[in-house]
Amino acid sequence: MSQLVNPHGGGALNPLLAPEAERAAGLERAKTLKQIPISSREVSDLLMLAMGAYTPLDGFMGHDDWRGACVDMKLANGLFWPIPITLSSEQALADSIADGEEVAMADAESGEVLGTLTVNEKYTIDRDLECTSVFRTTDPEHPGVQKVMAQPAVNLAGPVVAYSESHYPETYKGLYYRPDETRKLFEDKGWSRVAAFQTRNPMHRSHEFLAKIAVDVCDGVLIHQVLGALKPGDIPADVRVEAIDKLVDNYFAPGTAIQAGYPIEMRYAGPREALLHALFRQNFGCSHLVVGRDHAGVGDYYGPFDAHEIFDELSAGDLETQPLKIDITFFCNQCGGMATGTTCFDPGDGAPPSEAERIAFAAQVATGTADARPCKHGPETKVAISGTRLREMFANHETVPEEFSRREVLDVLQAYYDGLG
Ligand SMILES: [Zn+2]
Repeated sequence: MSQLVNPHGGGALNPLLAPEAERAAGLERAKTLKQIPISSREVSDLLMLAMGAYTPLDGFMGHDDWRGACVDMKLANGLFWPIPITLSSEQALADSIADGEEVAMADAESGEVLGTLTVNEKYTIDRDLECTSVFRTTDPEHPGVQKVMAQPAVNLAGPVVAYSESHYPETYKGLYYRPDETRKLFEDKGWSRVAAFQTRNPMHRSHEFLAKIAVDVCDGVLIHQVLGALKPGDIPADVRVEAIDKLVDNYFAPGTAIQAGYPIEMRYAGPREALLHALFRQNFGCSHLVVGRDHAGVGDYYGPFDAHEIFDELSAGDLETQPLKIDITFFCNQCGGMATGTTCFDPGDGAPPSEAERIAFAAQVATGTADARPCKHGPETKVAISGTRLREMFANHETVPEEFSRREVLDVLQAYYDGLG
């Protein structure tokens, strides 16, 4: 029997992707149905449903589940769920769909048909309620709010069958692992405690330190990349993969890290999104999720520790997957190594601690078995480079300090920026 955490809801994984033998015929039939164009966020949610990452959902949410997810983070049946998973359509199109009609869902950008939805409910939503609940703001500048405000008028709900995962399995071969596959990888390695490390960036020293703290607490870390649509200026997935492979090969103990990707599009919902990230990591078989400072945040909509604190509001049994709450990480010149906002060493007259000792202490603080030792060193001793400044340094071929990022990683990124011409 598996030693891993149970899928969310306690039952079996519920991937909505049709068995391979039925997909070609299913797609042909779907192409004869009424077509509902769906947004990139809806495509990403459909792919998450297809792979079983949103177990136990069987489709897009109806009104009661939508409202429950917004208001008290529970589906109508009482199951914990922190963000609504919905699909919307234009009024006229919605009006043309009969109750119980099966329609095809097609990527609005490419026209590609991905699956079918049996529409058993149509409803309109209070957009302000959704935005206030999920994003804690109705500010139209917030990228997540923008998408909710711009979505068409009517939500369509009902069970889903996916017949295609689009280009993802092919484009991200060797990276696109479904929850049943990550579970198998963990079991084959004999892991029972696995931390997920969410990233949409290449990993610099700060990310490396977070992941190594996770390895100290668990049997291993799943470095889990966002493969859905990103913000302009983000590094493409294949470059991130190459940079992370170099980092893992050179700086991690062998066999302690697995790299994988999944097709979500970020909502930038900060604390609520951290909860969703933990929920679907449970489906992937991860017992822990690294939650750093301002997890899934954007701008200054959320406090740096809002995504830590929201986990304290959960009831026992809401989630098996637990947060590993870690403060900001950085190289501190004063204490001569990597530190966190709550674990910065003062070497005094003694020898500075080794990296392993720093990791072990940060892991104790993250799991509550040691008290924090907040940094006494000023901001001028901490190596920090903004994303904008870093891009500028690559453009000018300036030397990025190795206290910030490993040389092998920098080489991959420099080659990428050079290739942009
Ligand atoms: Zn320090």
